Amino acid sequence: MTAPRSSELLAKAYAAAPQGRMANPRLLIDQTLKAGAEIALDEGQARHVGTVLRLDAGDGLRVFNARDGEWRATVSTKTKRGMSVRIEALLREARATPDLDLLFAPVKRHATDLIVEKAAELGVRRIRPIITQRTIAETVRIDRLQSIAREAAEQTERFDAPEICEPLSLARALDGWDASRPLIYADEAGDATPLLQALSIWTAGVPPANAGGPCKLAVLIGPEGGFTPEERRMLRALTHVIPVSLGPRILRAETAAIAALSVVQSAWGDWREA
Ligand code: SAM
Repeated sequence: MTAPRSSELLAKAYAAAPQGRMANPRLLIDQTLKAGAEIALDEGQARHVGTVLRLDAGDGLRVFNARDGEWRATVSTKTKRGMSVRIEALLREARATPDLDLLFAPVKRHATDLIVEKAAELGVRRIRPIITQRTIAETVRIDRLQSIAREAAEQTERFDAPEICEPLSLARALDGWDASRPLIYADEAGDATPLLQALSIWTAGVPPANAGGPCKLAVLIGPEGGFTPEERRMLRALTHVIPVSLGPRILRAETAAIAALSVVQSAWGDWREA
C-alpha cells in the first residue's frame, strides 16, 4: 500500500475541520496577482484545486507568490474544460526566505523526496543536487522535486517555492563557489567541530554587518556512502568551507539534512524572529 501524499492528507484535514478552524488552502500562482484579476489555472493546478482539494465554484482559497504576496481569492469557474480563480484582496505582503542553500547528494527516491519536502518546510531558498563520488547513480527528476517543493511551500505559509537546481558534480560546484557564502559541510568523520560551536566560532570573526549570522550560506550533506577521503581533503582545503559534526552518531542523509538545517535556522536564520 502506498502512503497518501501530504496534499491528500491536507485535503482531508480541510474537509474535516470545523468552519473557521483552518485557514483556506493556499495555491502558488506565478502570474501577476492583483485585485479583480481573473486567472485561469493550468491543468496541474486545476487538478490539485478541483480534485485533490475538492474546491467548487464559490469556494475560497489563498493564492500567493514571492513577488505579489498572498491574496484572498475565490474559485470563479469550474468546468470540465478548466478552472479559474478571481483575486480579491491582499492578505499579506511577501517576505523573503533566508538566503540558505541545501546541497545534498541524491539518495534513494523516497529519501530524496523527503529531503526536498523538509528543506522546503525548514525555509531553504535553493536546493542543489550534488553528484559526489559515492552518489547512487539514480536519475534526479527535477520536475518531480519541483512539484514536491511547491506543495510543501503551499502548506507552510512561505511565499516562494525553493528553486531546484540542475545536478552538478561536487568539483564543479566548488569550482565556481562564491566565497562570500560560507559552506557548512556535514563531515561524518568524527573529528570536526560540533555544528553549534562551529557557527559561534565563525560568527565571532565576521564583520558587524553580519553579526548574529551571515545573510547567505549553504549546507552540504553527503550520500549514504559518505564522502571519499579525496573529497574530504578537497573540502577541508577551502577557507569558505566550515566542516562540522552533527554529533556522535552517524545519521542517515535525510536525518542529517533536517538536523543541520534546523540548527542553522535556529542559530543564524529566521527561526530567531518572533
Ligand atoms: N557511510 C558513512 C559512514 O558510515 O561514515 C555515513 C554517511 S551518512 C549516512 C550521510 C551524510 O550525512 C554524511 O556524508 C554527512 O554529510 C551526514 N552525516 C551523517 N551523520 C553525521 C554526523 N554525525 N556528523 C556530520 N555529518 C553527518
